[in-house]
Amino acid sequence: MKSNKDIAELLDEPACEHNKKEKSGCAKPKPGSAAGGCAFDGAQIALLPIADVAHIVHGPIACAGSSWDNRGTRSSGAQLYRTGMTTDLTEQDVIMGRGEKRLLHSIKQAVETYQPPAVFIYNTCVPALIGDDINAVCQTAEKKWGVPVVPIDCAGFYGTKNLGNRIAGDAMVKHVIGTREPDALPADLAAEKQVHDVNLVGEYNIAGEFWHVLPLLDELGLRILCTLSGDARFREVQTMHKAEVNMMVCSKAMVNVARKLQKEYGTPWFEGSFYGITDTSQSLRDFARLIGDEDLTRRTEVLIEREESRIKAALEPWKARLKGKRVLLYTGGVKSWSVISALQDLGMVVVATGTKKSTEEDKARIRELMGEEALMIEDGSPKALLKVVADYQADILIAGGRNMYTALKAKIPFLDINQEREFGYAGYQGMLELVRQLALTIESPVWPAVRKPAPWRKTQEASHG
Ligand code: SF4
Repeated sequence: MKSNKDIAELLDEPACEHNKKEKSGCAKPKPGSAAGGCAFDGAQIALLPIADVAHIVHGPIACAGSSWDNRGTRSSGAQLYRTGMTTDLTEQDVIMGRGEKRLLHSIKQAVETYQPPAVFIYNTCVPALIGDDINAVCQTAEKKWGVPVVPIDCAGFYGTKNLGNRIAGDAMVKHVIGTREPDALPADLAAEKQVHDVNLVGEYNIAGEFWHVLPLLDELGLRILCTLSGDARFREVQTMHKAEVNMMVCSKAMVNVARKLQKEYGTPWFEGSFYGITDTSQSLRDFARLIGDEDLTRRTEVLIEREESRIKAALEPWKARLKGKRVLLYTGGVKSWSVISALQDLGMVVVATGTKKSTEEDKARIRELMGEEALMIEDGSPKALLKVVADYQADILIAGGRNMYTALKAKIPFLDINQEREFGYAGYQGMLELVRQLALTIESPVWPAVRKPAPWRKTQEASHG
């Protein structure tokens, strides 16, 4: 079980903006405030997309049951990550002290049935409270079956989902990164152009959206050693220490990985986003800038010019349909600013944005984009959201899946922007998908139909009148 010191260290992340505001780092959650997901949930969400690993949840069935497969992250090959595995601890196991035994047996079963390159063990509240020594079990299993078994000590009561993300990142730095060297480049490719190795941290390949960006990076000669963790493989995570640059995508949830890789291996990192034309281009430029290769910088500019003019031409017919439409954006973290710039690229007006999970830096960027008067919403209750929609006459609510029914019940067009979404919006190509979905949602004939009074009401009123 993690000591208070370990948890305090993870909360006190020097690269996190909260640290600059309050010296104590991230606040410890108060009872009930982990409702958005516990530390286990956060850790599992961060690592589950590593597709060929056997992910075993050590705990009662409900922990695994309520969190498995809850992100629409896609894999280009291995599908083992989609098989839910748990030790399914029961009351009897707790009373009889059989937790560790069950864990060892589960690892054996996973290794023998699926021959995974590694097994990840997620600790949850119950085994942490009864004192199961998961580190010892992992070491025993590793020796016995010759497969890396990685302990991720992320009991839910340690803190919030965000802390869980960091615990997951920390486990990768401690146990996985640096345990293998990257594959040599094929001779023909190495002779053709200078290839630079890079990592993406916090890219989850939701709805396969990273595949919009990958061909561009390939074309530039940027080899992705690993995306932590969308469409990743265990053997890729092992090589992350050899990248020349790390890009932090999607909020700072795993910022500790980027910082530690910089500290231990001297790898520079930057924070970027692939949402929107401006931000995608900026991220490509940042790679070239940090790598410091003049030829790459030149080729990047050529590629950006080509892609921007291609996508702008493709967006033109849609833009006319969306220009001036008013959006209420309720999402968290980096998406709160990166999506604003994507929407502004389309000529839409963002009337307000949610900032519940945003860092101080995120908020500063929002002010930069929307002006000092930007309305930032902390209260995401249905009542508060609907009030903003009404007061600011928003045409559409863009938010996470849990707000869908709020919008639909209020007869407001809604677009899902969070991890459960079905469409990928990253990269230049993703903008085309975003604009298509926005236009289809706003223009759907269902809205005027449901807003009209029911026909029998008119008849009733006429007969009463
Ligand atoms: S780890 Fe703890 S808080 Fe999280 S789902 Fe399991 S029992 Fe609940």
